[in-house]
Amino acid sequence: MTKFTDLGLNASVLRAVLEGGYEDMTPIQKQAIPVVLDGKDLIGVAQTGTGKTAAFSLPLIQKLLTGEGKRAPKGARALILAPTRELAIQIAENIQAYAKYLHLRTTLVYGGASPKPQIKAMAPGVDILIATPGRLLDLMNQKFINLSQVEYLVLDEADRMLDMGFIRDIQKIIAQLPKSRQTLLFSATMPTTVLKLANSILNNPHRIDVAPAATTAEKVDQHVLLVPKGRKRELLAHVLKDESLSRVLIFTRTKHGANKVAKQLDQLGISSGAIHGNKSQNARQKALNDFRTGETRTLVATDVAARGIDVDGVTHVINFEIPNEPESYVHRIGRTARAGAAGASLSFCDHDERGFLRDIEKTIRQQVPVLEDHPFHLEGIANAPASQDNDSGNNGRRGAPNRRAGSGRQKPNNRPSGQPKSQRSRPNSGGGQRNQRRQAVSA
Ligand code: AMP
Repeated sequence: MTKFTDLGLNASVLRAVLEGGYEDMTPIQKQAIPVVLDGKDLIGVAQTGTGKTAAFSLPLIQKLLTGEGKRAPKGARALILAPTRELAIQIAENIQAYAKYLHLRTTLVYGGASPKPQIKAMAPGVDILIATPGRLLDLMNQKFINLSQVEYLVLDEADRMLDMGFIRDIQKIIAQLPKSRQTLLFSATMPTTVLKLANSILNNPHRIDVAPAATTAEKVDQHVLLVPKGRKRELLAHVLKDESLSRVLIFTRTKHGANKVAKQLDQLGISSGAIHGNKSQNARQKALNDFRTGETRTLVATDVAARGIDVDGVTHVINFEIPNEPESYVHRIGRTARAGAAGASLSFCDHDERGFLRDIEKTIRQQVPVLEDHPFHLEGIANAPASQDNDSGNNGRRGAPNRRAGSGRQKPNNRPSGQPKSQRSRPNSGGGQRNQRRQAVSA
């Protein structure tokens, strides 16, 4: 079964799906949809970009249509929990698109916005409630929401929810749901904390793993640019001179850093928006929409705020700062090269971040080639102790493509298939270059 037409979906749902341009199912959809339709609990190890939202929402809609449950005041028949407002909104938008020819009631409950309209929307009861845990629990505690009739529970991006400290809220919410329900849990990674949660809330689940981190990362043409910390802003200005970087998502580690980069882009006359936790929901949504429609060329984001960003055609992800968690790196670069498109990532790495980079390379089980062709490369090298350079496992001789940042995005990586990493070609790696590097290191 590879096509949506094979699933026996309700004709109105199928019509909306086909109108949305979907034809073939993605791997997670092929595996998950029949299991969910069959009424089984499910663990899906999958990231955003794999089509996981449709993988759970299409069978969920189908089951809501064919099931006998009814909406109850203040209640929901299906509850979808997501870690961030952005992801919750994204899921709601997808569900609204799939259910556009149906009369299902769907609503959103999340923090950072007035609770009044949310309470009002919940009063008559809904079919599908998409919520972030904190606000949901708050409204449950105030008796504005009653989830004693929930038939279906979905936890999306469970690993991130736990990272964000939502475990207690989630447990309290689930304690108020009926025991007999169907539960689906999706997570990009499966650390023991998530497995423990899964074991405590799922009943004999079917497990599906798609796109392990390394596979997703393989699709993105990744490079690292060595640069002193104090030169990153100039490097950013330099790489953005290349107009092939047309829709660029820039990541910083902190909200403050995101603001600073956005301000710098403004000064350079490069249209940008910023999303992070200190921005109001409206401001975040506007920045995201402007980026999505191409009104702005760049969007600066922190990891948490960027969860759930689903923008087609992101040409480049720039890691202005290297994340200290390898999983964040995988998530960040997974915002490009979506749905089979080409995508590239450029990671600005200063001396202090080399340890993070090594951890990332271990996680993705591949070396990220160094892009030497930029004005700050030798300064970046000079900044690092020689021993660090040798730590990379091949005497510091990483593959370095001889081209400008951003060009040649079509190639998934620079390594001909089957060629071991240690023998990777290094077009720009003549002896002269190496000597230059040694001089710089010992300078
Ligand atoms: P997700 O992983 O749910 O965030 O989905 C990633 C993107 O792929 C979204 O823009 C979806 O609309 C799109 N998508 C999901 N399933 C399919 C499909 N079977 N065919 C084409 N696009 C899809």
